[in-house]
Amino acid sequence: MEHRDNRSLPDSKGYFGEYGGSFVPPQLQPVLDEITAAYLKIKDDPSFNRELSDLYKHYVGRPSPVFRAERFSAAAGGADIYFKREDLNHTGAHKINHCLGEALLAKRMGKRKLIAETGAGQHGVALATAAALLGLECDIYMGEADIKKEHPNVSRMRVLGARVVPVAAGLGALKEAVDAAFEAYLKDPVNQLYAIGSVVGPHPFPMMVRDFQAVVGREAKEQFAASPGGLPDALVACVGGGSNALGLFTAFLSDDVAMYGVEPSGTGFGSGQHAATLTKGRPGVIHGFKCYLLQEEDGSPSKVYSAASGLDYPGVGPEHSYLKDTGRVSYVCASDAEAIDAFFALSRLEGIIPAIESAHAAAYAVKLAKELGKGKKILVNLSGRGDKDVDFVIGKYGAAYGL
Ligand SMILES: *Cc1c(COP(=O)(O)O)cnc(C)c1O
Repeated sequence: MEHRDNRSLPDSKGYFGEYGGSFVPPQLQPVLDEITAAYLKIKDDPSFNRELSDLYKHYVGRPSPVFRAERFSAAAGGADIYFKREDLNHTGAHKINHCLGEALLAKRMGKRKLIAETGAGQHGVALATAAALLGLECDIYMGEADIKKEHPNVSRMRVLGARVVPVAAGLGALKEAVDAAFEAYLKDPVNQLYAIGSVVGPHPFPMMVRDFQAVVGREAKEQFAASPGGLPDALVACVGGGSNALGLFTAFLSDDVAMYGVEPSGTGFGSGQHAATLTKGRPGVIHGFKCYLLQEEDGSPSKVYSAASGLDYPGVGPEHSYLKDTGRVSYVCASDAEAIDAFFALSRLEGIIPAIESAHAAAYAVKLAKELGKGKKILVNLSGRGDKDVDFVIGKYGAAYGL
């Protein structure tokens, strides 16, 4: 099988095929153009890359290990399942990889302040961490409903010195927070840099966040090179916006390796309670870019749901939309129930409590292991740790697992 990598994408306007681009108010376009120009300049600058690699190594704790999960694999009954342990990064997930990149870029551009939206607070905490480390101010826009729900992350951001700005509009959730953060950004693009939380948004964010996350796959490729065969047979990662998945996939796109992006089917398609954008959506525009979108008749984004708050976004990265159409990556689903099963299996068979987001990938790996059979190797991106989820899981699902 011949595959091509996506290094030449996006094009100069930010398109991956028909997806991506920049659908923003005219006054925002010059601001984005300035970020693109600054990023393209520093991206091959040895001193920038040295500084970022040093932080990855000495601050984040990279490279993250690849762990062969023997008991989890045996229970699945087929291929060997390996985990790329992004949960062991400082702050407990992959998001710190691109937050440090964006913060370092802001500093090089002479910005004083980072701003961003956050839903469950994971991106906010990772960005507040990077801001503290690099001596930048940090404003995190968060819906009022989310602030009530995600108390520990709100406290963490405040302790780290970030300002959490409540957003009262609409449902008081992620979508309104994005709108408010963009509005604030437009008021002062000179001193602030918007640091987006995934491979979404207008150009250049999907490209930039992908490039910063690609360290995950580059490391994994090196870590597998020593093993017989030298490559895994399949990669599996969960897809919310799609940053941890592209982080793992990018280095392997031109190799003969199968790839699976796992979306949340929630409580099932019949219930309407899901966030399986690539599986059930159709092309549309959200937050300044074109992608597969779960939308109503009139094109407005649908209300979405997943037990994993990091996966419940009605859009998805434009590069994933492109990779779906080309067929290079297969997009599949895991339900809440399957993810919670994998959450307990990984906890009790390996002593690793995964984020519910990552548990979606682990759940699909169990099915795939049976399909591929013995002797094959599956590498799963364990995007984050599940400390944030334990109370929720016990409260909602504990009884079925003897708790
Ligand atoms: C935010 C988050 C995700 C989803 O974001 P992607 O951009 O799709 O990677 C997945 N896992 C964890 C642990 C997260 O915090």
